Amino acid sequence: MTALIEQLKETCGAPNVLHEGDLTAWEQDWRKRVRGKALAVVRPGSTREVAAVVRACAKAGTSIVPQGGNTGLVGGSTPDEAGRQVVLSLSRMNRVRSIDAANLTLTVEAGCVLQACQQAAEQAGLLLPLSLAAEGSCTIGGNLGTNAGGTQVLRYGNARELCLGLEVVTAQGEVWDGLSGLRKDNTGYDLRDLFIGSEGTLGIITAATMKLYPMPASSLTAWAAVPSMEEAVNLLGMAHRLLGPSLTGFEVMNSFSLALVAKHFRQLRVPLYEASPWCVLIENADSESELHARTQFERLLETAMEDGVVTDAVVAGNIAQARQLWHIREAIPLAQAEEGLNIKHDISVAVSKIPAYCAETDALLAREIPGVRMVNFGHLGDGNLHYNVQAPEGGDPAGFLRDHEDRVNAIVYDQVKVYGGSISAEHGIGEFKVDLLPAYKSPVALGLMRAVKKALDPKNVLNPGRVVRL
Ligand code: FAD
Ligand code: ZN
Repeated sequence: MTALIEQLKETCGAPNVLHEGDLTAWEQDWRKRVRGKALAVVRPGSTREVAAVVRACAKAGTSIVPQGGNTGLVGGSTPDEAGRQVVLSLSRMNRVRSIDAANLTLTVEAGCVLQACQQAAEQAGLLLPLSLAAEGSCTIGGNLGTNAGGTQVLRYGNARELCLGLEVVTAQGEVWDGLSGLRKDNTGYDLRDLFIGSEGTLGIITAATMKLYPMPASSLTAWAAVPSMEEAVNLLGMAHRLLGPSLTGFEVMNSFSLALVAKHFRQLRVPLYEASPWCVLIENADSESELHARTQFERLLETAMEDGVVTDAVVAGNIAQARQLWHIREAIPLAQAEEGLNIKHDISVAVSKIPAYCAETDALLAREIPGVRMVNFGHLGDGNLHYNVQAPEGGDPAGFLRDHEDRVNAIVYDQVKVYGGSISAEHGIGEFKVDLLPAYKSPVALGLMRAVKKALDPKNVLNPGRVVRL
């Protein structure tokens, strides 16, 4: 193994091969639920170096864990405990390669932090509409590796829909240059879509060409109290009808998730949650003018109030207020972590089925664990909920997880199956869900996934044991 480390140092430069000292930042996941041990952390500076690292590792029989910002939530970006895997960090590959304003595209290296990509687009007067709470540290390679969602999916789609091309280093250490920037290309199997969402198991993304959009003339945010999940879904339908393509975000939050934010972040003023079981956050990004956006919003909220769909609402008066409202939404996972260990789910079912799903599953969980607290929030516009479960008040969070996690997961996911949904809407499978997948995915689909993995990475060099076991 020392021979491999020496070879990696020769390829990438000794300072870019870390194998001594504290490697916690690369070895531990964001949720602090797993802690592995790496043979080394390698930080190549170019696609050529990535390819050389892959060839060296493949030859030595050493597997590789690709890593971007290490913000993934399913335990897919950290090494196992054996001390034999190489973490390949893309962090030094963070350059913006080009912007083509006429083609509305941005080409960046995989280690470019999402926020830096957004800023590069903004400097050209354009919009990269991929947005998530981890955007200050997650990378475009990780976003595409997980097919990240975020808060604007209902208008612009997931990371997949925003990507026009990739550059990938294969498991054999070859480079596939697919950075064409073409919007139409039907010359065979879609290799790009195969790599997107493959969580580092099929190839290493080294660069991507992303779609850009014109900057909206104005973006307005409203916060509304709704009396039930049924009415939240009704409001979503009204918003689609009255705002049309200007509707860019529609998030739902239950009262308890907001109470946790109010409790743990006292500086944030959380509106309307005490008097209502649910609040929603609506974003209206209009291409005409602020006045037009405001008029549209007022019409929506007035109609909704007349119909009893909304009981109360506030519209942000300026950008700072809008940011504050989004900040509250984004603080929910952090407030939940402050409250103590909890059981997280990232599920999707058809929007029309969400109210029944929640009512039934809430009741099943309450019967199983009296006093259990639901932290239910997420991207209602996409039918995607972070349907999380917190220990009863005053309970011991660690003991709660030990005693109930498997049973809670079974209840939540079996219900997802009944409702024809997905057990992972946007976070991926990684390690945490790899053994759950066979119970919820068809044997035919799993067989095809294994066939793809075997064809592209027959030696199982890339992120073994994640997504699909061979
Ligand atoms: P990492 O965590 O480093 O890696 C994630 C996976 O991708 C791993 O399997 C890794 O091996 C693989 N990978 C990384 N880079 C590459 C590459 N260059 N080539 C191939 N494979 C690669 N996710 C959402 O979808 N929507 C959200 O709204 C959202 N909100 C979040 C909020 C917070 C506070 C946090 C901490 C996370 C959130 N996430 C969300 C999850 C996470 O941020 C996303 O999955 C993100 O896209 C991961 O990017 P990363 O660079 O950190 O990847
Ligand atoms: Zn999310």
